[in-house]
Amino acid sequence: MMNYISPLPTHSPSPKPLVLLGSTGSIGISALKVVAQHPGRFQVLALAGARNAVRLAEQAAALRPPLLAVLNQETAAQLKSLLPAGYAPEILIGPEGYVQLATLPEAHTVLAAQVGAAGLVPALAAARAGKTIALANKEALVLAGHLFREACHRTGAAILPVDSEHNALFQGLAGQHPSRVRRLLLTASGGPFRGKSAEELKAVTREQALAHPNWSMGAKISIDSATLMNKGLEVIEAFHLFGLPAERIEVVVHPQSIVHSLVEFEDRSMLAQLGPPDMQIAIAYALGWPERLPLSLEPLDLVRAGHLTFEAPALDIFPCLGFAFQALQAGPSYPVVLNAANEVAVELFLKGTLGFSDIPALVARALDGHAGTDAESLEAILTVDSETRDQVRRWAS
Ligand code: MG
Repeated sequence: MMNYISPLPTHSPSPKPLVLLGSTGSIGISALKVVAQHPGRFQVLALAGARNAVRLAEQAAALRPPLLAVLNQETAAQLKSLLPAGYAPEILIGPEGYVQLATLPEAHTVLAAQVGAAGLVPALAAARAGKTIALANKEALVLAGHLFREACHRTGAAILPVDSEHNALFQGLAGQHPSRVRRLLLTASGGPFRGKSAEELKAVTREQALAHPNWSMGAKISIDSATLMNKGLEVIEAFHLFGLPAERIEVVVHPQSIVHSLVEFEDRSMLAQLGPPDMQIAIAYALGWPERLPLSLEPLDLVRAGHLTFEAPALDIFPCLGFAFQALQAGPSYPVVLNAANEVAVELFLKGTLGFSDIPALVARALDGHAGTDAESLEAILTVDSETRDQVRRWAS
């Protein structure tokens, strides 16, 4: 079976040489737990963590990869001072360092787990170098899905989704013919503010927004889950990964986060993937692919879970989800604007300079003010991205 964006290769070396971009974040930490449960199956060639020198040093000391990367000189110096005696890996610095790791000739699989649009350039470089990409960075596809498709077809690179919903769809599609797929249903927990009114949302705090009911995640994605922008970005991600038009991708709120997504077929059968809300499952499926790796997680107890409920998303209260559908329909530069405006707004909300309801307001303003432009090349995409960021910062200041 294949996903739409890329033909899936069958060659899977053992041990599998891995590069982990974003190893110090939530996904990176879970990925290293998967690796640790399978000694001999993976060979970690390189770890990259933007600014967390302490955690990166701990990870590197345990695995001793020959290559590390960080975002700046300062972090590199700190990292160096924390490494154990007798271990002197090469430390690469800045975005170029990430690209170098993403395209290492000896790498087979690259875990792309950076946060936000910063993950685009290295992930695309990996695709252009023909790597298998375990993709946790949904923004890369949101911004440049067509460039990934082109690169995958040209180089034989494969994209295996790590985002739990898309991983669930990928599992549901295994062995199925794409022409028999009727709809993709992405589940959403609804986030910490499900059921609140628009008025109540105006007063919510950063801490309340960060407290996701089911998943433990990084700050950016936690806020995106609270606004439902995360689900909006995931709709665009699914569009690029699986090649179904927006009107055949639906979102259903499922507060228990047990059904991770569903594929509906032309015979009205639905295949769902269920499991405990632990990212190790999706990560292991992508890193181990085409094999399913065992994991020592607490199994899901359906009797204890009791009820699985489903409801429609409240688009009037959480407009970001609707914005994402509109951006997808409006043309390729609109998702870039949507994402850039959201990243800046979330950053300012986390700093305490914006209210929660200002996030959708700024995204709406950016989309309304955008006239649609060329977003064909990587350069054009990055220009729209940075122009939108500057604009939104000016509005917010
Ligand atoms: Mg997700």
